[in-house]
Amino acid sequence: MEPNIDWKNLSFNYIKTDYNVRVHYKDGQWGKLEVTSWDYIPLHMAATSLHYGQEAFEGMKAYRGKDGKVRIFRWQENAKRFRNSAKGILMPEVPEELFHEAVTTAVRLNERFVPPYGTGASLYIRPLLIGISPIVGVHPSHEYLFLVFVLPVGPYFKGGFKPQDFMIIRKYDRAAPLGTGNIKVGGNYAAGLRATEMAQSKGYANALFLDPKEKKYIDEAGPANFFAIKGDTYVTPKSQSILPSITNNSLQQLCKHLGYKVEQRPIPVEELAEFTEAGACGTAAVITPIGKIFDEETNKTYIYSKDGKPGKITTELYNTLTGIQWGDIEDPFGWVEIVD
Ligand SMILES: *Cc1c(COP(=O)(O)O)cnc(C)c1O
Repeated sequence: MEPNIDWKNLSFNYIKTDYNVRVHYKDGQWGKLEVTSWDYIPLHMAATSLHYGQEAFEGMKAYRGKDGKVRIFRWQENAKRFRNSAKGILMPEVPEELFHEAVTTAVRLNERFVPPYGTGASLYIRPLLIGISPIVGVHPSHEYLFLVFVLPVGPYFKGGFKPQDFMIIRKYDRAAPLGTGNIKVGGNYAAGLRATEMAQSKGYANALFLDPKEKKYIDEAGPANFFAIKGDTYVTPKSQSILPSITNNSLQQLCKHLGYKVEQRPIPVEELAEFTEAGACGTAAVITPIGKIFDEETNKTYIYSKDGKPGKITTELYNTLTGIQWGDIEDPFGWVEIVD
């Protein structure tokens, strides 16, 4: 039965679906997959995830194609990053097969919530790993919960594929140079909230972070990676505090495939003046084209869109990548898996 959802007006708010899946880690091993409809977790108030941030997550999407089939994108990369995040805060790694089983089970069981083709909406998949042992001293947990829930989501930005403005924030960092910026843990998001709020209070979509050590180079663009176009070259920052985005990696591979050059290197703030296009990339929005970047300290504004439209290469990359994800364009990379 089709759920009573207005597919065209979905936001990113929580919607209860039919099932979520859970696996407990205890006595040094992973248990069996459990399926439940309950969307709460019984959690001890002294759990390590609550107090000391022992928590990592992933974000993926399932897309329904014109053929009605449901596709997931590069899940092996999410599985690998999830293991890396776990390692970074001393949690047990979820094996690749278990990750795959949990994700595909959650998608299959909630198939009726995968939005129809053509609505721009998709099924967001949220794997989560938390420490659940009650420990008040600062130690890693003994027991863990891995869970996967899904929800239908609309396009990240309501206005669609339109340029958004960013503001450079120097006052706050989201991560330290040798901290946890390169792994997907909730603590980084908590640390970044003030910067986002500051940028948004001044009318910008999000904050552009600089490298936390020298404040000389571009780091993350809000909760997404930054990229820019210079001539026929795709340029994206190299930094220890950036989360390696799978979307960014895919765009780089796509660029090479389409005949563009790719450079991953530190990007000094002054170089912003030399780019013709810029964008932020991540699973949620795929690409958010950047209209302009404001730097309060130098009172400079770098402009990448004058007519309210995204640049040519940004648009080409967006159309090609989303085309592969929706199954409209042939996938020469083997990135897409059909969930039957
Ligand atoms: C998840 C995330 C991204 C985007 O990664 P994708 O794999 O492309 O979704 C970028 N930056 C941060 C900080 C993130 O948490």
